[in-house]
Amino acid sequence: METKTTLFSQGVLRYIKKDTLTEFYCERCNSVKKSKITVQWENANKQIQLICNSCYGYLLQKK
Ligand SMILES: [Zn+2]
Repeated sequence: METKTTLFSQGVLRYIKKDTLTEFYCERCNSVKKSKITVQWENANKQIQLICNSCYGYLLQKK
């Protein structure tokens, strides 16, 4: 498992890469994803959302 924490303008992103595929619901693009990568997004209000790798890329692009 590989993890990476990134601070950005809209909170903290915790990138987690597992060895196996995980099915999860991305709370940002509102769809079910199947990926080895999941990202926890902790926003300024300390709320944690589970998001997918493409949302992660999108958020970092905007920073
Ligand atoms: Zn997403």
